[in-house]
Parts: sequence; structure tokens; C-alpha cells
Amino acid sequence: MHDRRGLVGVDGAVDVIDDGVARGGWGVGVAAWRGGDCVGGVGGVGVGSGVEGGTGRKVGMVEIAPGAQQFIPPQADTLDELRAAAAGCQGCELYRNASQTVFGRGDATARVVFVGEQPGDMEDQKGLPFVGPAGRLLRRAVDDAKLDPGHIYLTNAVKHFRFELRGKRRIHQTPDRVHITACRPWLVAEFTKLNPQVIVVLGATAAKALLGPSFRVTRQRGELLPWPAAAEHPEDFQRVPVDSVGDTADAPPTQLLATIHPSAVLRADDQDKAYEGLVADLTVAARALT
Ligand code: SF4
Repeated sequence: MHDRRGLVGVDGAVDVIDDGVARGGWGVGVAAWRGGDCVGGVGGVGVGSGVEGGTGRKVGMVEIAPGAQQFIPPQADTLDELRAAAAGCQGCELYRNASQTVFGRGDATARVVFVGEQPGDMEDQKGLPFVGPAGRLLRRAVDDAKLDPGHIYLTNAVKHFRFELRGKRRIHQTPDRVHITACRPWLVAEFTKLNPQVIVVLGATAAKALLGPSFRVTRQRGELLPWPAAAEHPEDFQRVPVDSVGDTADAPPTQLLATIHPSAVLRADDQDKAYEGLVADLTVAARALT
């Protein structure tokens, strides 16, 4: 039996699928609680502390994030059109304090797509992903793994910078599940315009966005996994549009590989060893290319 107690409709629309998680859909906003956790959904997402003891009673719910889906133009044909639309996204509260949306960039025909966590301070200022210290390190690792840096696409699971102010400094804060879930429609939309052979997931936040909360990068890093079968809700990625009137086709076979985020290398006690591990994982991705 699915526990539907605690489902809260936003804009009066609720959609529940078989696994008991309210996922909404384009234009549907819902929040879901299951087993005491606020699990959110692809549609609207509750921000707060979830429910008490799985009874469905809300405790400390402070905000509803409508999710990005309502900001995605259904007929967008290109990544540029998605990027332009994402500039106005208010799918969660992160847009309020960040400078701008930082959408993915790179070669739309890339054979390798990297998915990171969220933009950092420098990315937020420049409006481009992976232009800060972690991005520079990633580019070096891409070179060392013999991947072609001209044929990659870089994006993040969450498109706005989450931070807290300490004095004048903006200190990175890891996005919560509510932000990951609210922003996921942009990631899904990006994937409909890309056709990679390998998706490289960088760090735990990106892994949660694509593979679900139970995936552990530390356990499965460097391992080629079948995509989209390995995804959380693989049906989101199984079909790709072939034209702007809504025809779709099966997504081409792709593999996925998870590794650490380059910022974890910068934070590591033994940076050389951590860097070698990152390059070793990326080398697995490079060898998987045909
Ligand atoms: S983080 Fe994502 S969902 Fe939230 S406002 Fe930014 S683009 Fe929209």
C-alpha cells in the first residue's frame, strides 16, 4: 500500500505513480512524504523537515519549491533555447541570492557529458560552469585521461549557486535534495538534446540527481554502468524527442561512470593520490569511447 497521507497539492494538481513517490510532470506541482522523509518529486517540492514519524503530519515545512518544469519551453529545440529559458527560472529559492543561472556549456555533439554539483562562486559571477579552481583541475584531468577537451559538455545538477554569507565571503553550501529535485527537469531537458557515449557523474550531489539517493560514489566509482537503466526513474531518459512536434525515439545506448568531484581533489589531504584516482576513473571513460 502506498502511503498517500502527507501528499500536498500545489496549484491543485497531484499525480502519484506506482512507487508511491509523487513525481508530478510537466506543469504539475506536488510534494510527497514517505516513511518520515520529505522525498519531493519532479514536480513541486516541499522544503523543510518532512513529516513526523511517517504519519503524514507536516513538521516545520517552511517553503514550497515549485520546480523547474514550468519554466521549460515544451517546444525548445536546442540547448541555446533551454539556456535562455533557464535564465528566468524560479523553480526553487536559490535564484534569489545567486547572481545568475549557470547552465551547461560545451559541444552539443559531445561524446562525453560531465555532470557536477552546482556552480561555485566564480561560476556564479561569470555565468559559466567549471571555470573556477575545480574546473581548471577537471580540464587537466581530462587532458591526462586522453579525453578530447573539445568534445565534452559540462553541466551541473543544480544551476544556481547555493551559499551562505560569512561577512563578505560567500561560502559554498551543498544543495539539499529539494534543490536537486527542483532542478532535475533542466538536467532531463539537457539530456534530450545531447547524445553522449559516456556520462561522467562528478560527486555525490550529481549522483543523487541522476542515480538516486542510495547510490554511493565511493562504492561504485570508476565502474561503467548501463544508462539509462542505472538512472533513478530511467523512463525520464529512455526517449528522446526527434522533432519539435513531439515525436520521440529510444535514447541511444550510453554508459555512465561516477567519480569524485574535482573539488574533492582540492580538499583532499593527499591531493596527488586523489588526482590520480580521478584521472584513472576518467581513463576508464576514455577507453569506453568507440
Ligand atoms: S536551482 Fe534550478 S530549479 Fe532552482 S531556481 Fe535555479 S535553475 Fe531553477
